[in-house]
Amino acid sequence: MSSTAGQVIRCKAAVAWEAGKPLVIEEVEVAPPQVDEVRIRILYTALCHTDVFFWEAKGQNPLFPRILGHEAGGIVESVGEGVKDLKPGDHVLPVFTGECGECAHCKSEESNLCDLLRINTDRGVMLSDGKSRFSINGKPIYHFLGTSSFSEYTVVHIGCVVKINPLAPLDKVCILSCGISTGLGATLNVAKPKKGSTVAVFGLGAVGLAAVEGARISGASRIIAKKFGVTEFVNPKDHKKPIQEVIADMTDGGVDRSLECTGNVEAMISAFECVHDGWGLAVIVGVPQKDAVFKTQPVNFLNGRTLKGTFFGNYKPRSDLPSVVEKYMNKELEVEKFITHQVPFAEINKAFEYMLKGEGLRCVIRLDEE
Ligand SMILES: [Zn+2]
Ligand SMILES: [Zn+2]
Repeated sequence: MSSTAGQVIRCKAAVAWEAGKPLVIEEVEVAPPQVDEVRIRILYTALCHTDVFFWEAKGQNPLFPRILGHEAGGIVESVGEGVKDLKPGDHVLPVFTGECGECAHCKSEESNLCDLLRINTDRGVMLSDGKSRFSINGKPIYHFLGTSSFSEYTVVHIGCVVKINPLAPLDKVCILSCGISTGLGATLNVAKPKKGSTVAVFGLGAVGLAAVEGARISGASRIIAKKFGVTEFVNPKDHKKPIQEVIADMTDGGVDRSLECTGNVEAMISAFECVHDGWGLAVIVGVPQKDAVFKTQPVNFLNGRTLKGTFFGNYKPRSDLPSVVEKYMNKELEVEKFITHQVPFAEINKAFEYMLKGEGLRCVIRLDEE
């Protein structure tokens, strides 16, 4: 039993007081975990586009003050009532979407869209009592994605907490709790390219490059995109023809698999139309704008092309993420190459600057040092 169990913890958190304004490191109070909740000491967290999107709050309901952050790694400090399979000291990754284990989706082998704990960007409170566990002088601070990892301590529903190998370095594997697993799983679990096949990846942020990493692990012989592990790069701006025709010419009729990781609907159409007839499969990973419409000629389907979409790489967080961590531990999966920056917690706003300037892939924010 830790000495802080059952008590309010005062610690530092980076609070987003208003849309688009730099985060402020504040002393916050973190209430003890309630039924089916755990309190986690966050050691490392990374910045993802989704944090920036909700911090800018341009297209959605603004909810402030809020503690952002959802890619993270930490250690369980204490557990609430009813928590059996986690204990203080366990190494964990909090995840923005969950797995209750009881609903129709959790019971289906084919889905990871848990009814209870599916991503909810509008909720700023805990499920059990509709309250926040964070406060400053009694004033509640909202949660984000059920994780709020930009805090030295956070409270998370047990269904969104993944217990991992305690030997795994948390400053590396913390980035597996969102974007990297999304791209990797899209390839390994959905596109499933055969050894020796040709794979095209659209969009080369962290998610797209993780899809490329999946193609590399699968033994794809040609990976058409850019940067590490990629065999050929196509820049749409260099060609007058639609990119799907350029790719079809390069590959004798189309690629075996393609993955779309930008969210741009034109890229989605290209990704679908560049797969080979007869067997080609395209997977949509990027999140489009609300009113986007996907258009293609139905004959593309009749000619044996398949289109699929995926959420979080089809991984069920609690069941499947430990094995992704093991892939890294077995040196099958490379993680270090995605971490281009590191900053101490006090300089968290630098991570936002890097992302806004489009510099690098992942910035890990270290909460482990004073
Ligand atoms: Zn994310
Ligand atoms: Zn469920």
